[in-house]
Amino acid sequence: MTAPLRIAVPSKGRLAAATTQLLRDAGIAVPGDDRRLLVPVEEQNMEILLARTDDIPTLIRDGAADIGVAGGNQLLEHGSAGIELLTELGFGACRLVLAVPNASSITTKEQLAGARIATSHPNVLANYLDANGIVASIVTLSGSIELAPTIGAADAICDLVSTGETLRQNSLRAIGEVLRSQAVLLARIQATPDPRIAVLQTAVESVLAARPKRYLMLNAPDVALEAIIALLPGLDAPTILPLARSDMHAVHAVVDAADLPRLLHPLKEAGASGLLVLPIEHLIP
Ligand code: AMP
Repeated sequence: MTAPLRIAVPSKGRLAAATTQLLRDAGIAVPGDDRRLLVPVEEQNMEILLARTDDIPTLIRDGAADIGVAGGNQLLEHGSAGIELLTELGFGACRLVLAVPNASSITTKEQLAGARIATSHPNVLANYLDANGIVASIVTLSGSIELAPTIGAADAICDLVSTGETLRQNSLRAIGEVLRSQAVLLARIQATPDPRIAVLQTAVESVLAARPKRYLMLNAPDVALEAIIALLPGLDAPTILPLARSDMHAVHAVVDAADLPRLLHPLKEAGASGLLVLPIEHLIP
């Protein structure tokens, strides 16, 4: 039998819960509350490797895992050579920004020349400074980056931000953006790719595509059928099915969940009845 497909999943932290949910929605029986760090999913010939998110790109590149989830920023920081970014996952959005104390005279990235910049992303920052022709010194720290200016360890920071609240609380202001990041699905580049990786990728992508969509079903009197169809958005034509009674048809369509509040009333006014809205688990456009 082939070796189990090993999937690296963040064990804790910001990406952990959303990753576990996504894999479960994709049909992978990720175990809950298991203290083991390598958990077999025997019925699917898989193994879940619970790891620190930061280590996941390295584990994949070195062959310790076949596929996994990490932040796009972590992929860039640890080097993307040998790793394929399969899919952006739409959660864990954040920005890597340059920030200085509110009281600092620095307002532009160019003024960082000669400054000491604290970061846990020294490689990404070095590339950014190079690309912008800025010569500055990088102070590598693994945590509490926001404190570095207060304690005199740096003049500026380069750190991850989502809402900006931590910056505000630490009297810091952003002066530039180095990159935007979100959670990504990664796999090792292989001469002969394991076909199970494409299978998993399609399952994950079909869940992501389905999440913002709903399946709308309704019954339309034939006299109103055209008007009702005209109200439905989307590129694909809706499915029209005959009903047992001769003067009505059923209409089925995939719609954006966000469109539903403004769609339901006009559909009802146009004569639709028996309206049902259902969640969709998988969608392949
Ligand atoms: P963890 O170390 O497990 O908390 O995961 C950190 C990763 O979560 C980061 O590398 C980012 O990819 C992502 N992330 C999303 N939002 C934030 C944020 N506001 N601060 C830090 N990391 C974030």
